[in-house]
Amino acid sequence: MPIPLWDYRKEYEEEREDLLAGVDKVLRSGQLILGSSVRAFEEAFARHCGTAHGVGVNSGTDALFLALRALGIGPRDEVITVSNTAIPTIAAIVSTGAIPRFVDIDPRTYLMDIAELEGALGPRTRAIVPVHLFGQCADMRGIGRFAAAHGLVVVEDCAQAHGATQHGRHAGSMSEAAAFSFYPTKVLGAFGDAGMVLTARADIADRVRRLRVYGTEGTYYAHEHGFNSRLDELQAELLLRKLARLEGYVARRRALAARYDRALGAAGLILPATHPGNAHTYYRYVVRHPRRDAIVRKLEERAIAAPAAYPWPVHEMKAYAEYARPLPRTESAAREIFSLPLYPTLAEADQDFVCAALLDALRHET
Ligand SMILES: *Cc1c(COP(=O)(O)O)cnc(C)c1O
Repeated sequence: MPIPLWDYRKEYEEEREDLLAGVDKVLRSGQLILGSSVRAFEEAFARHCGTAHGVGVNSGTDALFLALRALGIGPRDEVITVSNTAIPTIAAIVSTGAIPRFVDIDPRTYLMDIAELEGALGPRTRAIVPVHLFGQCADMRGIGRFAAAHGLVVVEDCAQAHGATQHGRHAGSMSEAAAFSFYPTKVLGAFGDAGMVLTARADIADRVRRLRVYGTEGTYYAHEHGFNSRLDELQAELLLRKLARLEGYVARRRALAARYDRALGAAGLILPATHPGNAHTYYRYVVRHPRRDAIVRKLEERAIAAPAAYPWPVHEMKAYAEYARPLPRTESAAREIFSLPLYPTLAEADQDFVCAALLDALRHET
Protein backbone atom coordinates (compact mmCIF):
# COMPACT_ATOMS: atom_id res chain seq x y z
CA MET A 1 0.00 0.00 0.00
CA PRO A 2 1.46 3.37 -0.98
CA ILE A 3 1.89 5.83 1.90
CA PRO A 4 1.22 9.37 0.72
CA LEU A 5 2.55 12.54 2.34
CA TRP A 6 -1.06 13.51 3.04
CA ASP A 7 -4.53 12.03 2.54
CA TYR A 8 -7.87 13.42 3.69
CA ARG A 9 -10.18 10.54 2.79
CA LYS A 10 -10.19 8.67 6.09
CA GLU A 11 -10.80 11.92 7.93
CA TYR A 12 -13.68 12.61 5.56
CA GLU A 13 -15.25 9.23 6.35
CA GLU A 14 -15.09 10.07 10.06
CA GLU A 15 -16.62 13.53 9.58
CA ARG A 16 -18.90 12.76 6.66
CA GLU A 17 -22.28 13.18 8.31
CA ASP A 18 -21.39 16.52 9.82
CA LEU A 19 -19.85 17.81 6.58
CA LEU A 20 -22.74 16.68 4.40
CA ALA A 21 -25.18 18.32 6.81
CA GLY A 22 -23.17 21.51 6.27
CA VAL A 23 -23.39 21.17 2.48
CA ASP A 24 -27.14 20.66 2.73
CA LYS A 25 -27.52 23.66 5.01
CA VAL A 26 -25.76 25.95 2.57
CA LEU A 27 -27.48 24.63 -0.55
CA ARG A 28 -30.87 25.05 1.09
CA SER A 29 -30.09 28.53 2.44
CA GLY A 30 -30.51 30.38 -0.84
CA GLN A 31 -27.25 32.24 -0.14
CA LEU A 32 -24.14 30.98 -1.90
CA ILE A 33 -21.82 34.00 -1.77
CA LEU A 34 -20.80 36.16 1.23
CA GLY A 35 -23.63 35.04 3.49
CA SER A 36 -23.99 33.87 7.06
CA SER A 37 -21.53 30.94 6.87
CA VAL A 38 -18.70 33.18 5.68
CA ARG A 39 -19.48 35.67 8.46
CA ALA A 40 -19.68 32.93 11.07
CA PHE A 41 -16.39 31.38 9.99
CA GLU A 42 -14.64 34.77 9.84
CA GLU A 43 -15.73 35.53 13.38
CA ALA A 44 -14.94 32.07 14.75
CA PHE A 45 -11.49 31.88 13.17
CA ALA A 46 -10.54 35.41 14.27
CA ARG A 47 -11.68 34.56 17.81
CA HIS A 48 -9.74 31.29 17.76
CA CYS A 49 -6.57 33.19 16.85
CA GLY A 50 -7.20 36.01 19.31
CA THR A 51 -7.64 38.75 16.71
CA ALA A 52 -10.51 41.18 16.16
CA HIS A 53 -11.25 40.82 12.43
CA GLY A 54 -11.28 38.07 9.81
CA VAL A 55 -11.98 38.59 6.11
CA GLY A 56 -12.49 35.47 4.02
CA VAL A 57 -10.92 35.48 0.57
CA ASN A 58 -10.32 33.06 -2.27
CA SER A 59 -6.87 31.71 -1.33
CA GLY A 60 -3.83 32.18 0.87
CA THR A 61 -2.02 33.90 -1.99
CA ASP A 62 -4.84 36.42 -2.28
CA ALA A 63 -4.94 36.89 1.49
CA LEU A 64 -1.28 37.93 1.46
CA PHE A 65 -1.65 40.06 -1.68
CA LEU A 66 -4.78 41.85 -0.40
CA ALA A 67 -3.33 42.40 3.09
CA LEU A 68 -0.22 44.01 1.59
CA ARG A 69 -2.34 46.15 -0.76
CA ALA A 70 -4.63 47.21 2.05
CA LEU A 71 -1.53 48.36 3.93
CA GLY A 72 -0.52 50.46 0.95
CA ILE A 73 2.40 48.31 -0.24
CA GLY A 74 3.00 48.78 -3.97
CA PRO A 75 5.46 49.62 -6.74
CA ARG A 76 8.92 50.81 -5.63
CA ASP A 77 8.42 49.45 -2.11
CA GLU A 78 10.65 46.70 -0.76
CA VAL A 79 9.41 43.82 1.35
CA ILE A 80 11.82 41.72 3.40
CA THR A 81 11.03 38.00 3.34
CA VAL A 82 12.61 34.56 2.97
CA SER A 83 13.30 32.43 -0.08
CA ASN A 84 12.85 29.18 1.85
CA THR A 85 9.06 29.22 1.43
CA ALA A 86 6.26 28.24 -0.91
CA ILE A 87 6.14 30.16 -4.21
CA PRO A 88 2.92 32.05 -3.31
CA THR A 89 4.66 34.09 -0.58
CA ILE A 90 6.79 35.69 -3.26
CA ALA A 91 4.08 35.71 -5.94
CA ALA A 92 1.82 37.77 -3.66
CA ILE A 93 4.57 40.31 -2.89
CA VAL A 94 5.52 40.67 -6.57
CA SER A 95 1.82 41.04 -7.54
CA THR A 96 1.62 44.23 -5.48
CA GLY A 97 4.46 45.66 -7.59
CA ALA A 98 6.85 45.58 -4.63
CA ILE A 99 10.31 44.02 -4.64
CA PRO A 100 11.05 41.03 -2.38
CA ARG A 101 14.34 41.36 -0.48
CA PHE A 102 15.43 37.93 0.67
CA VAL A 103 17.13 37.22 3.97
CA ASP A 104 18.73 33.93 4.98
CA ILE A 105 17.36 31.46 7.51
CA ASP A 106 18.25 29.99 10.88
CA PRO A 107 19.86 26.66 9.90
CA ARG A 108 18.19 24.81 12.82
CA THR A 109 14.56 25.88 12.38
CA TYR A 110 14.66 26.98 8.69
CA LEU A 111 12.85 30.18 9.74
CA MET A 112 13.77 33.83 9.01
CA ASP A 113 17.06 34.73 10.74
CA ILE A 114 16.43 38.06 12.47
CA ALA A 115 20.18 38.81 12.56
CA GLU A 116 19.93 39.24 8.77
CA LEU A 117 17.25 41.94 8.82
CA GLU A 118 19.63 44.88 9.31
CA GLY A 119 21.56 43.99 6.15
CA ALA A 120 18.38 43.89 4.05
CA LEU A 121 17.11 47.28 5.19
CA GLY A 122 17.10 50.10 2.63
CA PRO A 123 15.41 53.46 2.11
CA ARG A 124 12.47 51.79 0.35
CA THR A 125 11.86 48.98 2.83
CA ARG A 126 8.23 49.14 3.94
CA ALA A 127 7.29 45.70 5.24
CA ILE A 128 8.46 42.34 6.55
CA VAL A 129 6.69 39.11 5.62
CA PRO A 130 7.86 36.38 8.00
CA VAL A 131 6.77 32.86 7.07
CA HIS A 132 5.68 30.55 9.89
CA LEU A 133 7.06 27.53 8.09
CA PHE A 134 6.25 23.84 8.61
CA GLY A 135 3.98 24.54 11.60
CA GLN A 136 5.94 26.94 13.80
CA CYS A 137 6.27 30.69 14.13
CA ALA A 138 9.22 32.83 13.10
CA ASP A 139 10.74 34.91 15.92
CA MET A 140 7.93 37.48 16.17
CA ARG A 141 9.40 39.33 19.15
CA GLY A 142 12.65 39.98 17.28
CA ILE A 143 10.84 40.81 14.04
CA GLY A 144 8.34 43.09 15.83
CA ARG A 145 11.12 44.98 17.62
CA PHE A 146 13.04 45.50 14.38
CA ALA A 147 9.90 46.61 12.52
CA ALA A 148 8.95 49.08 15.24
CA ALA A 149 12.45 50.55 15.29
CA HIS A 150 12.37 51.17 11.53
CA GLY A 151 8.70 52.03 10.94
CA LEU A 152 7.91 48.86 8.97
CA VAL A 153 4.64 46.92 8.88
CA VAL A 154 4.65 43.15 9.44
CA VAL A 155 2.35 40.73 7.62
CA GLU A 156 2.58 37.14 8.83
CA ASP A 157 2.36 34.33 6.27
CA CYS A 158 0.38 31.83 8.37
CA ALA A 159 -0.48 29.37 5.60
CA GLN A 160 1.37 26.61 7.46
CA ALA A 161 0.62 27.73 11.01
CA HIS A 162 -3.03 27.10 11.95
CA GLY A 163 -3.06 26.37 15.66
CA ALA A 164 0.61 27.30 16.17
CA THR A 165 1.50 29.59 19.06
CA GLN A 166 4.52 31.58 20.31
CA HIS A 167 4.72 32.43 24.01
CA GLY A 168 1.03 31.50 24.12
CA ARG A 169 -0.07 33.82 21.31
CA HIS A 170 -1.55 32.42 18.14
CA ALA A 171 0.02 32.78 14.72
CA GLY A 172 -1.86 35.57 12.99
CA SER A 173 -2.26 37.74 16.11
CA MET A 174 1.25 39.15 16.33
CA SER A 175 1.37 41.71 13.50
CA GLU A 176 -0.61 44.32 11.52
CA ALA A 177 -2.20 41.64 9.38
CA ALA A 178 -1.87 37.93 8.71
CA ALA A 179 -2.65 35.70 5.75
CA PHE A 180 -4.03 32.19 6.12
CA SER A 181 -4.58 29.56 3.43
CA PHE A 182 -7.10 26.76 3.78
CA TYR A 183 -5.75 24.84 0.79
CA PRO A 184 -6.78 21.21 1.35
CA THR A 185 -3.39 19.94 2.63
CA LYS A 186 -3.05 22.63 5.30
CA VAL A 187 -3.63 21.86 9.00
CA LEU A 188 -7.11 23.37 8.63
CA GLY A 189 -8.00 22.55 5.04
CA ALA A 190 -11.05 23.22 2.88
CA PHE A 191 -12.35 21.06 0.01
CA GLY A 192 -11.00 23.48 -2.56
CA ASP A 193 -9.34 26.89 -2.40
CA ALA A 194 -9.94 29.28 0.48
CA GLY A 195 -8.04 31.91 2.48
CA MET A 196 -8.42 34.60 5.13
CA VAL A 197 -6.87 37.87 6.24
CA LEU A 198 -6.75 38.42 9.99
CA THR A 199 -6.08 41.83 11.50
CA ALA A 200 -6.64 43.74 14.71
CA ARG A 201 -7.17 46.92 12.67
CA ALA A 202 -10.74 47.73 11.56
CA ASP A 203 -9.47 49.99 8.75
CA ILE A 204 -7.43 47.15 7.23
CA ALA A 205 -10.33 44.70 7.54
CA ASP A 206 -12.69 47.17 5.82
CA ARG A 207 -10.20 47.80 3.04
CA VAL A 208 -9.74 44.05 2.36
CA ARG A 209 -13.54 43.61 2.42
CA ARG A 210 -13.76 46.22 -0.30
CA LEU A 211 -10.82 44.90 -2.34
CA ARG A 212 -12.30 41.38 -2.43
CA VAL A 213 -15.44 42.60 -4.28
CA TYR A 214 -14.25 44.89 -7.10
CA GLY A 215 -13.56 47.78 -4.74
CA THR A 216 -17.25 48.08 -3.85
CA GLU A 217 -19.11 48.44 -0.56
CA GLY A 218 -22.39 46.67 -1.16
CA THR A 219 -23.51 48.70 -4.18
CA TYR A 220 -22.54 48.80 -7.85
CA TYR A 221 -20.09 51.64 -7.17
CA ALA A 222 -16.32 51.05 -7.09
CA HIS A 223 -14.44 53.20 -4.57
CA GLU A 224 -11.09 51.89 -5.79
CA HIS A 225 -9.66 49.35 -8.21
CA GLY A 226 -10.42 45.95 -6.73
CA PHE A 227 -10.56 42.24 -7.44
CA ASN A 228 -12.81 39.22 -7.17
CA SER A 229 -11.49 37.20 -4.26
CA ARG A 230 -14.39 35.85 -2.23
CA LEU A 231 -14.56 32.90 0.12
CA ASP A 232 -17.68 30.97 -0.84
CA GLU A 233 -20.38 29.83 1.56
CA LEU A 234 -19.79 26.10 1.05
CA GLN A 235 -16.10 26.21 1.91
CA ALA A 236 -16.77 28.55 4.84
CA GLU A 237 -19.44 26.24 6.30
CA LEU A 238 -17.19 23.17 5.96
CA LEU A 239 -14.26 25.06 7.48
CA LEU A 240 -16.42 26.27 10.38
CA ARG A 241 -17.30 22.67 11.19
CA LYS A 242 -13.68 21.54 10.89
CA LEU A 243 -12.48 24.45 13.06
CA ALA A 244 -14.19 22.80 16.04
CA ARG A 245 -11.82 19.85 15.51
CA LEU A 246 -8.63 21.86 14.87
CA GLU A 247 -7.19 21.25 18.33
CA GLY A 248 -7.73 17.53 17.85
CA TYR A 249 -5.92 17.55 14.49
CA VAL A 250 -2.99 19.40 16.04
CA ALA A 251 -2.84 17.05 19.05
CA ARG A 252 -2.74 14.05 16.71
CA ARG A 253 0.00 15.65 14.59
CA ARG A 254 2.07 16.29 17.73
CA ALA A 255 1.63 12.72 18.91
CA LEU A 256 2.76 11.37 15.54
CA ALA A 257 5.72 13.78 15.48
CA ALA A 258 6.75 12.54 18.93
CA ARG A 259 6.61 8.96 17.60
CA TYR A 260 8.93 9.97 14.72
CA ASP A 261 11.26 11.68 17.22
CA ARG A 262 11.51 8.49 19.27
CA ALA A 263 11.97 6.14 16.32
CA LEU A 264 14.49 8.28 14.45
CA GLY A 265 16.41 9.93 17.30
CA ALA A 266 19.55 7.83 16.91
CA ALA A 267 19.49 7.46 13.13
CA GLY A 268 21.94 10.21 12.14
CA LEU A 269 19.24 12.44 10.68
CA ILE A 270 18.72 16.02 11.77
CA LEU A 271 15.24 16.09 13.29
CA PRO A 272 12.93 19.14 13.53
CA ALA A 273 14.01 21.80 16.06
CA THR A 274 11.53 24.06 17.81
CA HIS A 275 12.24 27.77 18.23
CA PRO A 276 12.08 28.85 21.93
CA GLY A 277 8.55 29.73 23.02
CA ASN A 278 6.90 27.94 20.10
CA ALA A 279 4.23 25.25 20.18
CA HIS A 280 4.84 23.41 16.89
CA THR A 281 1.94 21.87 14.95
CA TYR A 282 4.03 19.80 12.49
CA TYR A 283 2.25 20.85 9.33
CA ARG A 284 5.35 19.20 7.91
CA TYR A 285 7.74 16.86 9.74
CA VAL A 286 10.97 17.94 8.07
CA VAL A 287 14.24 16.05 8.46
CA ARG A 288 17.67 16.71 7.01
CA HIS A 289 20.46 14.55 5.63
CA PRO A 290 23.34 15.27 3.22
CA ARG A 291 22.42 12.20 1.11
CA ARG A 292 18.78 13.31 0.83
CA ASP A 293 18.17 12.46 -2.83
CA ALA A 294 19.37 8.86 -2.52
CA ILE A 295 17.30 8.35 0.66
CA VAL A 296 14.15 9.82 -0.88
CA ARG A 297 14.61 7.55 -3.92
CA LYS A 298 14.84 4.48 -1.67
CA LEU A 299 11.64 5.50 0.10
CA GLU A 300 9.91 6.06 -3.23
CA GLU A 301 10.88 2.54 -4.29
CA ARG A 302 8.75 1.38 -1.35
CA ALA A 303 5.89 3.70 -2.37
CA ILE A 304 6.53 6.12 0.51
CA ALA A 305 6.17 9.79 -0.38
CA ALA A 306 8.91 11.86 1.29
CA PRO A 307 9.41 14.85 -0.98
CA ALA A 308 12.07 17.51 -0.75
CA ALA A 309 10.44 20.51 0.93
CA TYR A 310 11.13 22.70 -0.98
CA PRO A 311 13.43 21.37 -3.73
CA TRP A 312 14.18 24.86 -5.09
CA PRO A 313 14.46 28.02 -3.02
CA VAL A 314 12.27 30.62 -4.73
CA HIS A 315 15.23 32.87 -5.67
CA GLU A 316 16.70 30.02 -7.75
CA MET A 317 13.59 29.87 -9.96
CA LYS A 318 13.59 31.57 -13.36
CA ALA A 319 10.46 33.56 -12.51
CA TYR A 320 12.14 35.31 -9.57
CA ALA A 321 15.81 35.22 -10.58
CA GLU A 322 16.02 39.03 -10.73
CA TYR A 323 15.63 39.15 -6.93
CA ALA A 324 18.31 36.55 -6.26
CA ARG A 325 21.23 37.11 -3.94
CA PRO A 326 23.49 34.56 -2.23
CA LEU A 327 21.60 32.79 0.57
CA PRO A 328 23.99 29.99 1.56
CA ARG A 329 21.99 28.56 4.46
CA THR A 330 18.76 28.54 2.44
CA GLU A 331 20.53 26.90 -0.49
CA SER A 332 22.17 24.13 1.53
CA ALA A 333 18.94 23.37 3.41
CA ALA A 334 17.07 23.10 0.11
CA ARG A 335 19.50 20.37 -0.99
CA GLU A 336 19.14 18.35 2.21
CA ILE A 337 15.65 18.60 3.72
CA PHE A 338 12.67 16.35 3.09
CA SER A 339 9.24 15.73 4.65
CA LEU A 340 7.89 12.51 6.11
CA PRO A 341 4.22 11.46 5.79
CA LEU A 342 2.19 13.07 8.56
CA TYR A 343 -1.54 13.78 8.79
CA PRO A 344 -4.04 13.18 11.61
CA THR A 345 -5.37 9.85 10.33
CA LEU A 346 -1.98 8.36 9.43
CA ALA A 347 -2.04 4.85 10.95
CA GLU A 348 0.71 4.06 13.44
CA ALA A 349 1.46 0.83 11.56
CA ASP A 350 2.04 2.86 8.40
CA GLN A 351 4.24 5.29 10.32
CA ASP A 352 6.24 2.34 11.68
CA PHE A 353 6.69 1.09 8.10
CA VAL A 354 8.00 4.54 7.08
CA CYS A 355 10.46 4.52 10.00
CA ALA A 356 11.72 1.03 9.21
CA ALA A 357 12.19 1.89 5.53
CA LEU A 358 13.98 5.13 6.43
CA LEU A 359 16.30 3.43 8.94
CA ASP A 360 17.09 0.81 6.31
CA ALA A 361 17.84 3.49 3.70
CA LEU A 362 20.09 5.33 6.20
CA ARG A 363 22.08 2.15 6.96
CA HIS A 364 22.92 1.92 3.25
CA GLU A 365 23.82 5.59 2.95
CA THR A 366 26.23 5.97 5.87
C1 LIG B 1 -0.03 27.24 0.85
C2 LIG B 1 0.83 28.44 1.08
C3 LIG B 1 0.47 29.71 0.60
C4 LIG B 1 -0.64 29.98 -0.38
O1 LIG B 1 -1.83 29.46 -0.20
P1 LIG B 1 -2.87 29.18 -1.39
O2 LIG B 1 -4.13 29.05 -0.65
O3 LIG B 1 -2.43 27.94 -2.09
O4 LIG B 1 -2.87 30.37 -2.30
C5 LIG B 1 1.25 30.80 0.96
N1 LIG B 1 2.34 30.65 1.73
C6 LIG B 1 2.74 29.46 2.19
C7 LIG B 1 3.94 29.38 3.06
C8 LIG B 1 2.01 28.31 1.86
O5 LIG B 1 2.43 27.12 2.32
